[in-house]
Amino acid sequence: MSRQIRSIRGMHDILPEQSGAWQWLEARVRDTLAAYGYQEIRLPILEQTELFARSIGEVTDIVEKEMYTFEDRNGDSLTLRPEGTAGCVRAGVEHGLLHNQQQRLWYAGPMFRHERPQKGRYRQFHQVGVEAFGLEGPDIDAELILVTARLWRRLGLDNLRLEINSLGSPEARASYRQLLVDYLSGHAEALDEEARQRLHTNPLRILDSKNPALREIIAGAPSLLDHLDQASREHFQQLQALLRAAGVEFTVNPRLVRGLDYYCRTVFEWITEDLGAQGTVCAGGRYDGLVAQLGGRPTPAAGFAMGVERLLSLLETRGGLPGLHPPHVYLVMAAEGALETGVQLAEALRDALPGLRLQMHCGGGGFKAQLRRADRSGADWALILGESELAAGGVGLKPLRQAGEQETLQRDALVARLARCLEISPSPHDAKESPVCP
Ligand code: ATP
Ligand code: MG
Repeated sequence: MSRQIRSIRGMHDILPEQSGAWQWLEARVRDTLAAYGYQEIRLPILEQTELFARSIGEVTDIVEKEMYTFEDRNGDSLTLRPEGTAGCVRAGVEHGLLHNQQQRLWYAGPMFRHERPQKGRYRQFHQVGVEAFGLEGPDIDAELILVTARLWRRLGLDNLRLEINSLGSPEARASYRQLLVDYLSGHAEALDEEARQRLHTNPLRILDSKNPALREIIAGAPSLLDHLDQASREHFQQLQALLRAAGVEFTVNPRLVRGLDYYCRTVFEWITEDLGAQGTVCAGGRYDGLVAQLGGRPTPAAGFAMGVERLLSLLETRGGLPGLHPPHVYLVMAAEGALETGVQLAEALRDALPGLRLQMHCGGGGFKAQLRRADRSGADWALILGESELAAGGVGLKPLRQAGEQETLQRDALVARLARCLEISPSPHDAKESPVCP
């Protein structure tokens, strides 16, 4: 036998027993975003490497060490997208969606980062990203946060807390940056290797360090919030007033900075204590400079991304995630000529009952063996075409999960019965009678 080939480390298959939970979550995300007028945009997974270098920033973890970059057969440098905002802005500029317009967009799909795999941190993971363009006020920042808060409610999650901060204007940030460098240089001996490197390339990122040894130094650092420009201060205050008015609880965390360079003004994170170290399930903020940085006209923008795997593990700690979707009915056929009748019956039932999950037995075999498969399929009912049913021109209906006798029904009665039992409305074209629900 040849050697078995395995999946790539940190990249996971989503198995049938898990995909029901994914679909359940995705449906709620879709509905929630539709409720606020957001439209889906679908973007390529591969982009030119330069797109990420220019948007995310050269001195970030992602661009320095996490990207999957390779040369394609033309010698072009391509990168598997590590996040979605850059591609979304690229597409918006390319198709003229942004200039002098307002856009509310969302996308979902796999992202790729070469990180150390651990629980809640993978090399292929999935994000839902939401971006709003052409709006500079705090109203849209508040709306984005309200979208997330509503989604948590719809998912039944009440163990997430919201932290917000403002990074101010690029100018205010630049002068704060100098203050921070002065302060941290005074503690250079206590910094770790990574922080020492960041000191002159991206000192704000030191505030985001996960090293507990730096906690005290970071706590003593000058606060960005004390150095905001006036307009950003007002923007931030209005955002807080809107959140209060909408009843969204939050805390202001003056140390909250985001890993990517492109943020300004509002940043926020939704954090849980129930997932250990990987507790941020959703993060975002405002990035007014990015569109121009990627060649578009200056366009204010704000957005967020949530980690789908982290949300699913959080939901799992709550229990009650849907699993497999077993068939409603399993069709057993054991008689001369039953297969022809069965194939035709199965198609007719699927026509008559949209939403019906009917699994037809394939592969032959005796009646007993087929019934065992019906049972194992998880179906609630077996439909049976045996000698006597064929002779009577009917179909047997046998409950598999509850007590009850097998009955033989004519086709119309079967449609009505299944519709009632499974709470499916028959399609108007095929139904001969409307079922009366008990
Ligand atoms: P972290 O600080 O956990 O590395 P990040 O700041 O790099 O997160 P973002 O780029 O803001 O993350 O991505 C938004 C969200 O995507 C995160 O809050 C998280 O839920 C999820 N996420 C990011 N990286 C990963 C990963 N490697 N595996 C799984 N989920 C991830
Ligand atoms: Mg990261």
